Amino acid sequence: MEEGKKLVVLTHGGAGSDPAFADGTAIAGQICMMSLQSGEPIIDSACQAVATLEDDGRFNAGIGSHKRNDDTVQMDASCMDSSGTFGAVAALEGFKNPIHVARIVSQSEYKMLVGRGANQFAANQGCQTLSPNQIIGTGADFSTTDTVGCVVRAGDQFACALSTGGIDDAIPGRVGDVPLIGCGLYAGPDGAVAATGDGEAIAMQVTALRAYQLIEQGMDPKAIVPTVIAWFKETTAFGIIVVSKIGFAGGVNCSMAWTASEMLH
Ligand code: ASP
Repeated sequence: MEEGKKLVVLTHGGAGSDPAFADGTAIAGQICMMSLQSGEPIIDSACQAVATLEDDGRFNAGIGSHKRNDDTVQMDASCMDSSGTFGAVAALEGFKNPIHVARIVSQSEYKMLVGRGANQFAANQGCQTLSPNQIIGTGADFSTTDTVGCVVRAGDQFACALSTGGIDDAIPGRVGDVPLIGCGLYAGPDGAVAATGDGEAIAMQVTALRAYQLIEQGMDPKAIVPTVIAWFKETTAFGIIVVSKIGFAGGVNCSMAWTASEMLH
């Protein structure tokens, strides 16, 4: 009998998020799983999970995005798959699902669009807008929550996606690791990685690419997670989810809502 294709989905609500919000990451994971089962491209399934988290309101992305210190909201998002597709937006303003804009960028001749140009691109593509009064804005009313993310395996394919409102109270124009390939996320033929936490520290460690290199070396994700967490000071918030052909794992040095599911299809 032909063996089924292994489907694995991990979703997180960011380093610092309340583990009690794992119902939200679980629903995002289920939506991703249904998308995979219906035959959607793996990168679109990962983006579906992240869009669900952007719409949740309890996480620092989409309608839950943190405000900058001038009261504006600027959002970063990115997606990648193991066939070499990558797209990102940074400092996007006024759109409901930055991850959808990042996905459209990945289908264009560009890899990353920022600021005014990203806004214009999203408007030209008919992406759904978001007015400032529709933003719930986490941070002030919730315990600090961070980036949302997803990693996916579908047989021998991998994908990942991230979205964030950035660090609470940062100056406008600040961009962290999320849209930077190999920093916040990386996917290749051997697996996928998504990070969350202090974006400056994550970028300076080139975290996701170096974690992916551990996958390439054959390390089990259950060993990769504590290894990578140890690259960061205990006081620097950091979390990570990893999937490979060997298995999957997630972990954090503070708190994090995250869930994983697997099935044969
Ligand atoms: N890494 C994101 C950023 O620095 C936010 C987070 O996950 O904490 O923008």
